[in-house]
Amino acid sequence: MSAYIINGLELAKEKRAQLAKEVEQLKSEGIQPTLAVVLVGDHPASQSYVKAKQKACEEIGIRSKLLTFPSDITESFLLEQIQALNADDSIHGILVQLPLPKQIDELKVIETIAPQKDVDGFHPLNIGRMMTGQKTFLPCTPYGILFMIQSLNVEIAGKHVVVVGRSNIVGKPVGQLFLREHATVTYCHSRTKNLREITRQADILIVAVGKPNLIRAEDVKKGAIVIDVGVNRLENGKLCGDVHFEEVKEVASYLTPVPKGVGPMTITMLLHNTIQAAREQKGK
Ligand code: NDP
Repeated sequence: MSAYIINGLELAKEKRAQLAKEVEQLKSEGIQPTLAVVLVGDHPASQSYVKAKQKACEEIGIRSKLLTFPSDITESFLLEQIQALNADDSIHGILVQLPLPKQIDELKVIETIAPQKDVDGFHPLNIGRMMTGQKTFLPCTPYGILFMIQSLNVEIAGKHVVVVGRSNIVGKPVGQLFLREHATVTYCHSRTKNLREITRQADILIVAVGKPNLIRAEDVKKGAIVIDVGVNRLENGKLCGDVHFEEVKEVASYLTPVPKGVGPMTITMLLHNTIQAAREQKGK
């Protein structure tokens, strides 16, 4: 039997409808949740991500404020802009679209964002809080993946979760979130030997690499849940993930498509975090 295809778009729509009500409630209390979006340079993918995030904000009543800067700005100038946003009480969340130009140290920029406005959940303090099980902003893509799997009503505790990819924004934190949910977690990366032997053991396989068709049917255990985080643009202009969709759907029990899988959930969790930031900053 073919896998159930998880409809990230539909799930995101339901969650956003609920978030819109929360925004309405906050507005009735005189709070206008506001997200500052910082875009440096004219990278087309970054521009389109920023546009999508702003549109999603607008649709549920979150105000977004876009700050655009040319790619040749200095690091110190950008840090000053972020400090100004930190000090601005009308801004609840700050998102700096990555990647940044080479002359700017991304970690320095992330560390400059006030932790209480770090709605991407990338600040080391918030990552530490996540790892120690404290309340914090959870990074959006990992949080969206967890939300997706929880929506399937499958037991996570005791399951073997294999994460392929160990970036700071997806791979590492998604493994930590599943560890928090009592899964047994294995990380794989570019130096992993015998990748297939490990991925075949996964009850839940999360792939965040950025290589089309890296995961084939033979790499997946029958009945596994497969989450494809990868977004790759093919020469014909189409998007695809890291998982060979047609093959793996015949082996997995659940599978996310690309597009319309993890992507819409990522943005939804950004909206969730911005609302949380607004509420916390107003002491609600
Ligand atoms: P990075 O490039 O930062 O990390 C890629 C990871 O994959 C690295 O840990 C790397 O290992 C590992 N890797 C590379 N080649 C292999 C291989 N052959 N076998 C096993 N592991 C390998 O990417 P990101 O985590 O930022 O993003 C991953 C993908 O997810 C991209 O396609 C990106 O576009 C997409 N993405 C999608 C989002 C969404 O909302 N849908 C959000 C964020 C990202 P090593 O560490 O050893 O180099």
